[in-house]
Amino acid sequence: MADYYKRLGVEKDSDADTIKKAYRKLAMEYHPDRNSSPDAEENFKRVTEAYEVLRDPEQRQLYDRFGEAGIKRSAGGGPAGGFGGFDFADAFEVFMREFGGMGFGDIFGGRASRTSGPRRGGDLKLRLKVSLEEAARGVERGVKIKVLDSCSRCGGSGAEPGTAPERCGTCNGAGEVRQVQRSMLGQFVSVRPCPDCGGAGERILSPCSECSGEGRVRIDRTVQLQVPAGVSTDDYLKLSGRGNAGRGGGPRGDVLVLVEVESDPRFQRVGDDLVYNLAVTMSQAALGADIEVPTIIDGNAMLKIPQGIQSGQALRLRGRGMPRLRDSGRGDQVVRVLVWTPTSLTREERDLLEQLREVESEPPEPDTEEPGFWERVKRAFTA
Ligand SMILES: [Zn+2]
Ligand SMILES: [Zn+2]
Repeated sequence: MADYYKRLGVEKDSDADTIKKAYRKLAMEYHPDRNSSPDAEENFKRVTEAYEVLRDPEQRQLYDRFGEAGIKRSAGGGPAGGFGGFDFADAFEVFMREFGGMGFGDIFGGRASRTSGPRRGGDLKLRLKVSLEEAARGVERGVKIKVLDSCSRCGGSGAEPGTAPERCGTCNGAGEVRQVQRSMLGQFVSVRPCPDCGGAGERILSPCSECSGEGRVRIDRTVQLQVPAGVSTDDYLKLSGRGNAGRGGGPRGDVLVLVEVESDPRFQRVGDDLVYNLAVTMSQAALGADIEVPTIIDGNAMLKIPQGIQSGQALRLRGRGMPRLRDSGRGDQVVRVLVWTPTSLTREERDLLEQLREVESEPPEPDTEEPGFWERVKRAFTA
């Protein structure tokens, strides 16, 4: 047998005020608009059913004496031991009757107010492609958007000037209609925008000739975007209040700009660092050299290749990488030096290399000399 006191977590001799408070707390917890767990609706229904009996002194007395059988509703006639036809629609009705006038409608998106009255306009989302160099410098861009503006002819009401909208008879101005469907799983209540007024709660008999009754018109506008230096792909720019105008005088939405930084054939971005691959000849690697390398925004930089550099070794040009978006300073340009072995030789090169072979020393055995060299080889293969 269902214990309604237990369901609400109250004592058998609790007063009406305590019961109401207990119900309110549980209903708020289980309300399907706030609680997405699968049994939230069932729990909401159960605590509401219990409350509905215990709040009424007569029902409560019957329940105390005869249990559920004493308060079985005549209407509905649910399955034996079930809820006697008490379904979610009933539960919701009880909840709104008790708390609907206390601002809880707003917390839950207000079933009725959700579809009528002023509403915030939609956000506009757009993608913006910038080159890696633009991302490094920062860039200002004018971007064309199609945005909904309040109609100036009707002032956003949607009604032809001189006429007024009329309350919708289908939904009585609520803007929504409820449908109860019965299925094997029980009753299913769906709430949907009123088909006759589209959720506005009122109908426009003489639509504005400019906006056809929508109250808003789509216009082309150019917005200036300030892309800060250091942005990365998937960073967002947000222009607050620059999106679509709201219905019925509601606030404007935002413009959200999703940045996409195009890849650059020269540089590979790793966080705030830029990796540049530099091929050097065998003699440059052995003897050392000064080589010009391109940077992202500082022109060419002179890089000193130390003598004896190994293939794969990295050199850093400090502060020549990407600006840090949320910090000062810039990352580094990492120059990865790769020793290029010639694939075809001139006669002279062949002669010189053969002479070199006669006199050059052997490369090191693994893990003997040149530990730095073998460390780097290991790292190159595990990276
Ligand atoms: Zn208009
Ligand atoms: Zn309607």
